[in-house]
Amino acid sequence: MSDDATAKNKSPLAGVSLTFLAPADDAQTTPSAAASPDARSGEPISARVVIVGSGPAGLTAAIYTARANLGPIVIGGVVGGGQLMITSEVENYPGFPDGIQGPELMGLFRQQAERFGARIVDADVDRVDLGSRPFRLWAAGVEYLADSVIVATGAEALWLGIDSETRLRGKGVSACATCDGFFFRDKEIAVVGGGDSALEEALYLTHFASKVHLVHRRDAFRGSKIMQARAAAHPKIELHLNRTVAGIEGKDHVEALRMGRTDEPGEETIPLDGVFIAIGHRPNVAVFRDWLETDEKGYLRAEGATTASNIDGVFVAGDVDDHRYRQAVTAAGEGCRAAIDVERWLEAREPHETEKTAAGATTSR
Ligand SMILES: Cc1cc2nc3c(=O)[nH]c(=O)nc-3n(C[C@H](O)[C@H](O)[C@H](O)COP(=O)(O)OP(=O)(O)OC[C@H]3O[C@@H](n4cnc5c(N)ncnc54)[C@H](O)[C@@H]3O)c2cc1C
Repeated sequence: MSDDATAKNKSPLAGVSLTFLAPADDAQTTPSAAASPDARSGEPISARVVIVGSGPAGLTAAIYTARANLGPIVIGGVVGGGQLMITSEVENYPGFPDGIQGPELMGLFRQQAERFGARIVDADVDRVDLGSRPFRLWAAGVEYLADSVIVATGAEALWLGIDSETRLRGKGVSACATCDGFFFRDKEIAVVGGGDSALEEALYLTHFASKVHLVHRRDAFRGSKIMQARAAAHPKIELHLNRTVAGIEGKDHVEALRMGRTDEPGEETIPLDGVFIAIGHRPNVAVFRDWLETDEKGYLRAEGATTASNIDGVFVAGDVDDHRYRQAVTAAGEGCRAAIDVERWLEAREPHETEKTAAGATTSR
């Protein structure tokens, strides 16, 4: 099927399902750690590696550390699966030539991690003590003692917070131009925001859209002068300054954008097919903020070319330390890197222990 045909056969981002797939019947699942005897007894649960987050980064780290026989516990968040759970069609994850629904893809990640024995706890880590080893983490009233930790808590896209935006998310409303731009070939869309990301996304989306409305609530953009000049000069981009989003119209998919004005009374409505919200991302670092170094944008910092954090034995992976690429495949890649870094780190500290536990491994990387 040609690109055009593929795009036309799908309504933009239609149909979001939030179900995390149940593991297949033949999967060798392990009971969740929250329900384990250790947890019931109130005793802390010990693990060679605890992974925080169950998006592409966390679950890839789980697959690798489980296959290395490190018995990972994934404390994956109350809402597991990460950001792909709020998107529909994923067409750029390799290995799925016809595309795959985001929740389905994350269900497969989870199934694969559980197949190798990763224990997944659907809870949020609400406190950590990374001051000495074993590291201590608390989630849903259970304490975990970890020889090593991988932080893969992702970064949340910021939304405007209006009802119509939530209702039409995945049905023409998106927060990821790289991911969803392709669905808007020859369509008219809007980008909301005033920083460099909004300008970049607007310029990127001109490759697909017939017209891009760039909507910003102030009288000038915050982004760099060069990006502003590029956007202003682009024949497909129309600037709308001093405009707020009053509402996104449409029953099952986006049909129009209703804009209010900040400089004078009145509203105007533009018919269009998609709205990209580009007002920033917030890395999920709250519980680690007192321990782990962040960069100037608030993302966790990895040391040099590795995934090591500033604390020996704590590693970081995925969108929580990456504000440049922010893709499922790059997050998964980082999860793999972090798992290999953990494995080597543990091996260097406890060569005998690692040999002993690795002896039962059935497969190797
Ligand atoms: C609308 C949208 C559409 C997208 N579409 C695509 C696409 O088509 N293709 C693509 O490649 N990428 C896409 N992306 C980007 C992609 O989803 C991310 O790059 C990727 O999910 C990042 O993976 P991650 O594992 O680093 O973090 P996340 O996926 O964000 O996962 C982080 C996990 O950590 C958990 N967590 C956070 N805090 C805690 C805590 N304290 N304790 C325990 N758990 C915690 C969260 O609940 C979450 O489950 C899209 C993003 C959005 C917003």
